[in-house]
Amino acid sequence: MFNVDAIRREFPLLQREVHGKPLVYLDNAATTQKPQCVIDSLTNYYTSMNSNVHRGAHCLADEATRAYETARGQVARFINAARECEIIWTSGTTEGINIIARGIADRLAPRHNVVVSAMEHHANLVPWQQACHRSGAELRIAPINDAGDIDMTALAELIDSNTAILSVAHISNALGTINPVHKIGEMLKSVNPSALFMIDGAQGIAHGDVDVQALGCDFYAFSGHKVFGPTGVGVLWGRESVLADWPVWQTGGEMISSVTYQSAEWNILPSRLEAGTPNIAGAIALGTAINWLSQQDLEGLRAHEQTLIRYADERAAQVSGLRQIGTAEKRIGVLSFVLSQGHAADVGFLLDRQGIAIRTGNHCAEPLMERFGLSGSARASFSIYNTVDEIDLLFTGIEKAKMMLE
Ligand code: PMP
Repeated sequence: MFNVDAIRREFPLLQREVHGKPLVYLDNAATTQKPQCVIDSLTNYYTSMNSNVHRGAHCLADEATRAYETARGQVARFINAARECEIIWTSGTTEGINIIARGIADRLAPRHNVVVSAMEHHANLVPWQQACHRSGAELRIAPINDAGDIDMTALAELIDSNTAILSVAHISNALGTINPVHKIGEMLKSVNPSALFMIDGAQGIAHGDVDVQALGCDFYAFSGHKVFGPTGVGVLWGRESVLADWPVWQTGGEMISSVTYQSAEWNILPSRLEAGTPNIAGAIALGTAINWLSQQDLEGLRAHEQTLIRYADERAAQVSGLRQIGTAEKRIGVLSFVLSQGHAADVGFLLDRQGIAIRTGNHCAEPLMERFGLSGSARASFSIYNTVDEIDLLFTGIEKAKMMLE
């Protein structure tokens, strides 16, 4: 049974105060807080097991390697990867997307095109811009409507036999839109079976049921810190048949099978794409986070998240001067808004004084904000440990901020 109070008790940081007020943490799209088991996992690693993986001839190295590879398996099962070697440890979503964008840049010619949507985070836009600039390929942007949904008819018109890759967010960090990724993948592959399909899962991993095989994608990238794990570690999942000969992006230790003074041969997956000493503690703690999440009542948890967003929508509709950005039917976790009474940055400041943490600005999606005629918005983003009471506190805070700004 899903019990939000019990969940909250597992997150020590949620117990603290800010500016003398109980913390109301509504910046979960930026990063989630960590349950005690994840914090313990990091500490335990350094207090009892610290060692380098895959190389030592001693007990500690064996234990560290086992824990590190166990975490890979935990991630593989969580996202239903066909094989563990398809899980590549990265530093986060940004690195995962860059590995694919840099790799594909070598294969792009001026006749090719790359398709993204108008709602992408800079991490799923700029790497493709760079790949296109370098190769002369065309970057195509699928428009969105005023609610914040991708215009599927327009998207269909952008895909053709020269589309090399299409990359889209599973869930938008700025609008909360849940994109119909499965349908997008089907559309892409029906027009061009050899085109690759990448999903930016930075937000999807914490809110969606991610089954990479069922989604029909070739790559899925996410960050540990958005799914209750530590910062500095993330995952690039790729279909083995595609990743097996993917251009190596960093060279050095671990990623080689043999080396002479003049040349080297590459290792097999996953080492091939994992040069150097990895973030061992981070990977193990991410495994702990994912294990912890898998043990929760996932159905209850998703229902709770829907309750929060629907309640926030209802409350937002009653606030005079509040314009909501992103009202897609299929949406989760994000209430993005501006107030006619004042600038988003001032709203964020005034809420912070009341202990309420939100994010303001362009949310690393500057072109998207421009699409809505804005330089930025205030964004409250919810996680599984937030409550309806906290949403009430948010709206009390917004009313107070309005009074001070008027
Ligand atoms: N894509 C989306 C949709 C995101 O929300 C984020 C993080 N805000 C990223 C990519 C980049 O993630 P990271 O900074 O952890 O690499």
